[in-house]
This record gives sequence, structure tokens and C-alpha cells, in this order.
Amino acid sequence: MLNIVLFGPPGAGKGTQAEKLVSKYNLVHLSTGDIFRANIKGETELGKLAKTYIDGGNLVPDEVTIKMLESEVDKNPNAEGFIFDGFPRTTPQANALEVFLQGKNTSISVMLALAVSEEELIKRLLLRGKDSGRADDANEEVIANRIKVYNNQTAVVADFYSAQNKFEKIDGIGSIGDIFERLSNAIDNHKIAL
Ligand code: ADP
Repeated sequence: MLNIVLFGPPGAGKGTQAEKLVSKYNLVHLSTGDIFRANIKGETELGKLAKTYIDGGNLVPDEVTIKMLESEVDKNPNAEGFIFDGFPRTTPQANALEVFLQGKNTSISVMLALAVSEEELIKRLLLRGKDSGRADDANEEVIANRIKVYNNQTAVVADFYSAQNKFEKIDGIGSIGDIFERLSNAIDNHKIAL
């Protein structure tokens, strides 16, 4: 299996690139943000719980997020691999994912981290907020909090994969096509090394 963690701060372009990688490598895309938003739209219990955290730019509690992610993986028993987009976002999530995948005799192949400057992130998120309908993109204070949460709780997850020699940093500035090529090259090189 090819299991990729697509990593990077809010606005780094994970969702855009994940869509392209999914069709090229025949993977299942699991975006925790998209799943939460679908639950909010459907007014499920999970959606109601997640909404307050998401609207404030805070993380949904680990226990809830981990359970949801695992059940999404289990819905795809025939997948050739997964792209995890927006997960793991904390070290406990990374640990839980490792144990969960071990139980299925698989593991994360590589973490690809999109690197984008903070100034560029804020620009992109505000632009996206104009037409995405995402409340968490439209408010500058919420954006600032998301970046703060990323720096305080999420950035450290890179160390988890780095310690396993599975961390690859990718320049996230440039055209969508250029960045896609960088990611594809990293995956192809990694597959040869496997
Ligand atoms: P972005 O990366 O652009 O901030 P996402 O769509 O990935 O957006 O996530 C939106 C929100 O959903 C996050 O700000 C957070 O509140 C919640 N969320 C997504 N993934 C996780 C996660 N792994 N753990 C906790 N909360 C999450």
C-alpha cells in the first residue's frame, strides 16, 4: 500500500494537490476537514460537536477525530492506499494512526510537507474565504488562530515522521502544476527506495 500523509499549514494547498495525487496514484483521499464540514452540513451529532471548534479555528478533540478517521479507513477495505489530508494534526493522532495501521499490516509510506511562508498563507486563505463559504477562512482572527494552533500543536508531527526517515519537505510556492510535479517526483523516488 502507498499511504501518504500530506502535511502543511492551513492554506498550503493540501486539498488541491490531494485531488490530483488521488487520480494519478489511485488512492483514497481522506480529508478530516472535508469530513467534518460534510457532517456540519448534514447536521449530524459529530457535526454539531465539531462546529464550535472549527469556527474558532481550534482543533476538534483527538478522541473524536481519531475515531472518525479510523471508521473512514474501514469504509475502504479494498483501497490501494490513502492520502491523509489534515490528519494527523497532533502527536497523539500520529501515534494512534501508527497503531491502527499496524493492526492492518500496513504503515505510512511517507509524509510530504508543503512549505509556504506565513504571509502567503494568509493571502491565500483570505482569498479562499471570499467564495468558499468557509467561515473559518473569512475572519482574519480565526486564520491567525489556525496558524498559531498549527505552529503550537501540529508542526511537531513532522518530527514523528522525520525520526522514521519518512519526512520530505516540498516547496509549496509556484504553479499548481509545478508543485504537483515536485510531489509526484518525491513519491516516485520514494517508491523506488521502498
Ligand atoms: P485547513 O488545513 O485549511 O485549516 P482543514 O479543512 O484541513 O483546513 O480543517 C479545518 C478545521 O477542521 C481545522 O481548523 C480543525 O478545526 C478541524 N480539523 C481538521 N482536521 C483535524 C484534525 N486532524 N484534528 C483536529 N481537528 C481537525
